[in-house]
Amino acid sequence: MTRVVIIGGGIGGATAGCALARAGLEVSVYEAAPELKEIGAGVALHPNAMRVLRMIGVEDAVRRVAGRSEWSATHNWRTGRVISKISRAQQAATFGLSGATVHRADLLDVIAAALPAGSVTLGKRCVTVESYGGVAVARFEDGGEIEADVIVGADGIHSRVRAALFGPDDPRFTGKICYRSVIPIDAVAGERPATDNAQWLGPHGTVVLYPVRAEELINVVCHYDDEHYRHESWINECDRQEVLDRYSGWHESLLRIFEAGDTWYKWALYLTATRSRNGRGGGSRSSATRPIRCFPTSGKGHVRRSRTVRYSPPLCRPSPTI
Ligand SMILES: Cc1cc2nc3c(=O)[nH]c(=O)nc-3n(C[C@H](O)[C@H](O)[C@H](O)COP(=O)(O)OP(=O)(O)OC[C@H]3O[C@@H](n4cnc5c(N)ncnc54)[C@H](O)[C@@H]3O)c2cc1C
Repeated sequence: MTRVVIIGGGIGGATAGCALARAGLEVSVYEAAPELKEIGAGVALHPNAMRVLRMIGVEDAVRRVAGRSEWSATHNWRTGRVISKISRAQQAATFGLSGATVHRADLLDVIAAALPAGSVTLGKRCVTVESYGGVAVARFEDGGEIEADVIVGADGIHSRVRAALFGPDDPRFTGKICYRSVIPIDAVAGERPATDNAQWLGPHGTVVLYPVRAEELINVVCHYDDEHYRHESWINECDRQEVLDRYSGWHESLLRIFEAGDTWYKWALYLTATRSRNGRGGGSRSSATRPIRCFPTSGKGHVRRSRTVRYSPPLCRPSPTI
């Protein structure tokens, strides 16, 4: 049986593990952290992502913990005018199934529970991967190593696997930052906010809001043009007042929600050089190393020579919304 080692037990690694195990491969996941854990934030799963979750058998469990919203709407920043609107039912009719919005911790819990029993090893930080003849080898910080037929890198934006395969990365600042928070709906003063999946378009920014955990929490992500702030971190806090100042003049229903957010995070958006080279931005990317004998052909289809190549799977088009 083909042995696959996945480095990183985040949403990407856990999903890959479930999919490969269902395909009959022997899967082991090695995670650096002492537990499988996600940051306190939401994630919007579009129909293409839900199709994968259906394929690995967790769609119903994900929908049980998802936010409850009937509509996906785009608004004008100042007036609140609805620019476009699509219902979940229309989305399902168009794409074959509807999307969902979930808390990342809930999503990871659901996917991790579907991994084969005993397939996850925690506290194992990979430092490099190499190929020797017919096998791929992952080496760990504690001096250990593991052999496999295929190693998949799902170790995040600062991936050691990607660095080992493609060299050091040079992430490029996009000139955009994000403010984000997860806000209890009951904490919002005045009229109860709509639980639509909403996008607000305005000068220098886009605000995305959606419910997670039924109607308990609203996930808020605000993009803004800012050439100066360069700190790439999902967990760096900032003052709520900074967010209110930035979005001053935007619709009062948005600002009421922002007021209710006790903890705000500020995060500069970068593109990795590998993503840029491929002309694709955002989303996650995994790399795989596999020593394979490859016989490139000439234009006429004749075998010219053999060589060992590193295998990198095709990328999925990333979701446009975060
Ligand atoms: C706030 C926020 C909102 C987002 N919203 C959306 C959205 O709505 N829709 C969407 O499609 N995308 C969204 N994204 C992007 C998407 O969520 C990420 O691209 C995705 O979570 C990446 O998943 P991953 O498993 O590849 O990496 P990660 O989540 O970074 O997981 C990597 C895992 O590998 C482990 N690890 C790291 N280094 C090592 C090592 N050396 N050895 C072993 N283990 C290691 C880490 O501990 C971690 O568990 C969002 C991102 C953020 C931050």
